[in-house]
Amino acid sequence: MDKLLDRFLRYVKVETTAVEETKKYPSSKGQLELGKMLVKEMKELGLQGVGVDKHGIVMGTIPATAKTAPTIAWLAHMDTSPEASGKNVNPQIMKNYNGKDIVLPKDKSRVISVKETPELTELKGKTLITADGTTLLGADDKAGVATIMTAAAHLLANKKLKHGPIRVVFTCDEEVGRGTDKIDIKKIKATCAYTLDGEGQGGIENETFSADGAVVTITGKNIHPGFAKGVMINAIRLAGLFISRLPMQILAPEKTSGREPFLHPYVIEGGVPETKIRFILRSFNAADLKDQAKILKNVAATIMAEYPGAKVDVKTKKQYRNMREYLDKEPRAVDLAAKAIRKAGMEPAFQSIRGGTDGSRLSEMGLPTPNLSVGMHNFHSPLEFACLEQMESAVKVLIELAQMWGKEKK
Ligand SMILES: [Zn+2]
Repeated sequence: MDKLLDRFLRYVKVETTAVEETKKYPSSKGQLELGKMLVKEMKELGLQGVGVDKHGIVMGTIPATAKTAPTIAWLAHMDTSPEASGKNVNPQIMKNYNGKDIVLPKDKSRVISVKETPELTELKGKTLITADGTTLLGADDKAGVATIMTAAAHLLANKKLKHGPIRVVFTCDEEVGRGTDKIDIKKIKATCAYTLDGEGQGGIENETFSADGAVVTITGKNIHPGFAKGVMINAIRLAGLFISRLPMQILAPEKTSGREPFLHPYVIEGGVPETKIRFILRSFNAADLKDQAKILKNVAATIMAEYPGAKVDVKTKKQYRNMREYLDKEPRAVDLAAKAIRKAGMEPAFQSIRGGTDGSRLSEMGLPTPNLSVGMHNFHSPLEFACLEQMESAVKVLIELAQMWGKEKK
């Protein structure tokens, strides 16, 4: 536990904030610095084939102790969210947490309150780690990195524990949506993978949205407004009309939750001759996306019928698919994770994400990748914190999981 905490504190002190406004990969130098530190530590622990590729992605292998077992992979991302500063993170350790609101020392206006963070009531008596109020903590995802390193150290020190080859992969720029851009799943070459990037404890995120994008292009007819009568067709007005004809009480993100789908306009731009509206289409059931596209096409058709001379074009584009579609093809990925969580003394909680994860893209690329809890809370914010005991329970889950896969055949 001390080693787990030491590792975590070491990693959060490296500034690895991802940067949106750059084409560089990784987007910030700190990620390379943390990568270098991890390569050194992985070599010292005895992982094999440890290295960093030209994109900054770190990989190494815990060698097999069970020769016929399949290869699995553990992934965590080294970058932190650009939504809050990650410079000079000054972690505060609170042993035997008293169950009350936590006032952060360097900015007393920042309070992690029991009211807004109800899970705090279950964490009384535990060890919590927060930032000082001026930065985020970076438990997202350095809790994942520290958990994986600690589990790797345990397996390498206890060769009697039987497991197959385990690839340890630390990725870059997850927080700016580029986490899987440079990953080569052929190099990882695993039967399945796990991202250690989830909230709290005992969670398995095995479902994400299926997602398409759509662009509606409205073409009108422009002319000097002084001579416009009977001639002008104003694309801006038709865009307003288009939006007004979409469902507003259902199928809107501001009106839905849980497993409900939505159809969401998020950008509108243009002028009298042409206006574009950009949409995202989201549902846990990929077939619903076709119905959502049909809604857009029907509205387009009625507007064209009412305004001869106007053109309303709808183009949809596939984005990503619910990882469940792909996880179902390798049911052991989730089944063994659930068993490992039980063996570590918790009840697995299956969770659906109203969004996508690196795992949804990796799963689609052919590497089934559910996401597991690593004890982080309130991420992307100065109110972020981690619970050491929950991180420790994630280490136990990984050790059990390794051994469960160790009993499987390729
Ligand atoms: Zn994360």
